[in-house]
Amino acid sequence: MKIEKSQRLKQLPPYLFKEIDRQKTVMRAKGADIIDLGVGDPDLPTPAHIIEALQSAALDPANHRYPSYTGMASFNRAVAGWYKRRFGIDLDPESEVITLIGSKEGIAHIPLAFINPGDVALVPSPGYPVYDISVQFAGGRSVSMDLTADNRFLPDLDAIPADVAQSARLMFLNYPNNPTSATAEGDFFDRVVAFAAKHEVIVCHDAAYSELAFEGYRPASFLQSDGAREVGIEFHSLSKTYNMTGWRLGFAVGCKAVIQALGQVKSNIDSGAFQAVQLAGIAALEGDQECVAQMRNTYMQRRDLLVGGLRELGLHVEKPRATFYLWIAVPDGYTSAQFATHLLTRAGIVVTPGNGFGAPGEGYVRMALTVDEKRLAEALERMRGTGF
Ligand SMILES: *Cc1c(COP(=O)(O)O)cnc(C)c1O
Repeated sequence: MKIEKSQRLKQLPPYLFKEIDRQKTVMRAKGADIIDLGVGDPDLPTPAHIIEALQSAALDPANHRYPSYTGMASFNRAVAGWYKRRFGIDLDPESEVITLIGSKEGIAHIPLAFINPGDVALVPSPGYPVYDISVQFAGGRSVSMDLTADNRFLPDLDAIPADVAQSARLMFLNYPNNPTSATAEGDFFDRVVAFAAKHEVIVCHDAAYSELAFEGYRPASFLQSDGAREVGIEFHSLSKTYNMTGWRLGFAVGCKAVIQALGQVKSNIDSGAFQAVQLAGIAALEGDQECVAQMRNTYMQRRDLLVGGLRELGLHVEKPRATFYLWIAVPDGYTSAQFATHLLTRAGIVVTPGNGFGAPGEGYVRMALTVDEKRLAEALERMRGTGF
């Protein structure tokens, strides 16, 4: 029998990291010592008090049964409490909070709630690939909002053509931003709310990096803008804040009708996050936040080391105020892919070519600060030896 894939899979864009992955495999097979700055996955362990909460919760048979698909009441209350402390916003834990099996799960499912075949969603480019692909899976059409250095990597809302704005049903945003590490302030979110209300576009703000900011900078919540709660939701994740990427726990908060519809999709697809993981999540959100301060400090030191070293090598890179990514302009004479290949084959360093996040990312590579300072120093040393 011939196994035929659906159109939805066949029409996916080619996987742009395939060539880098292939080169990486070849080099590893040859025994090369690879420094991987490609993946945005924290190298540090989950704090001990969170692991201990999981251990005791796992022993309780009450947690072995199906959880609620909208989340445990106690987890949703812990989220509301954290939101109040962090952003000064009151949320109703029953109607304005939903627990997710990682924020990627909610992001991937939200278009199923609002996109009809042919509907338009506004998607940042370069951007986290899940936005565009989940829209396509729902039968919709993504229109990209280009993020460029000229607009400080914020979408130019005035440049969105009137007919596109009129037909758009969803808009994805992500600040602090992956991959550009750009940040957004309240005045930008105010303009987004006005745009969304005028054109009846539901805003989905991905705030996965809201806690990963340096030197006292505290990124704003989209929900802090007046009227935001009528037009959209915000996605959060425990993955980056508490080094819990493997645990799969996140949440969305905001507009009741949007949260309700997302819950309706989820009730037909999954059965919620493991309760023991949610109880560990409560320990994370309500426990001592010193571990978060330490995490920020670690990435800040790595950032300073790598930014300083790259600048000495003549590369152009901004020092980010948030996220664990550096967004680096490639040297003259290279494309993103050529520079990534150069670093891999000549220096054994994996970076992510910027165009893999969308065409406007051409001319950049992304480095993740997810290896220790010793390895970063080694990476700089190798680059010094290689030249570009
Ligand atoms: C890491 C990341 C997430 C978090 O995903 P989880 O599913 O919560 O682990 C979401 N959005 C962006 C842009 C990310 O980089």
